[in-house]
Amino acid sequence: MTHAIEIKDLHKHFGDNEVLKGIDVTVEPGQVVCVIGPSGSGKSTLLRCVNLLEQPTRGQVRVQGVDVTDPDVDIDAVRRHIGMVFQQFNLFPHMTALQNVMIAQQRVLRRGKRAAEVVARENLDKVGVIDKCDAFPAQLSGGQQQRVAIARALAMNPDLMLFDEPTSALDPELVGDVLAVMRKLAEEGMTMLVVTHEMGFAREVADRVVFMDGGVIVEDGPPAQVIGDPRHERTRSFLSRVL
Ligand code: ADP
Ligand code: MG
Repeated sequence: MTHAIEIKDLHKHFGDNEVLKGIDVTVEPGQVVCVIGPSGSGKSTLLRCVNLLEQPTRGQVRVQGVDVTDPDVDIDAVRRHIGMVFQQFNLFPHMTALQNVMIAQQRVLRRGKRAAEVVARENLDKVGVIDKCDAFPAQLSGGQQQRVAIARALAMNPDLMLFDEPTSALDPELVGDVLAVMRKLAEEGMTMLVVTHEMGFAREVADRVVFMDGGVIVEDGPPAQVIGDPRHERTRSFLSRVL
């Protein structure tokens, strides 16, 4: 079976700053892997290396068997299979929710307007904001905006989804709606690599939890172990601060 994501000995330097110091992570199709760890530990950089938003310095990153660091790779083709959701929702402010979910379908997948609208409405419904399809981002709560951003990613029919702290910019009372959407996606079998500080979500939804600190993976295992019974002092110390 081809791994959904296979990362081997990944290093990333920014100048003299070695931010990733030999990372190995594998995600199987249908798995949910949560990445936790302190600020600055390299979690976002790791995620961004998967779709080459950052160019790895050394090591291998394979997505569905394709080595994304191969200079001959068609990275746009690889990215078409990967949905990404950021902490900041990055919706187009001058477009409605519906238009935001249609635009990449039309431009990248060359779907016709009608087909794009059908898919957009399906996905806005799925994330629970179909009643907001004519609203502009500024008229939506953060939680609604993030759900539109998830719908936009899903409308591209990705095989896997990367989430980088999708609830970190939200007011606490809006976090649950977004996590519920992500939980539903996980239950439907979506392959997900999720950077999060939501330990409840990681514990309940993740197949594996990866704890990163200082550019290395300190622990990688089932949530009951990494969160419930961590083996390393660094993990325990981090968890005592966030739980
Ligand atoms: P995390 O997501 O775990 O908070 P990041 O991956 O964002 O960590 O950052 C890890 C380190 O890499 C930080 O020291 C950060 O300053 C540095 N870094 C991240 N992106 C860049 C960049 N584009 N240029 C230079 N340094 C960066
Ligand atoms: Mg980050």
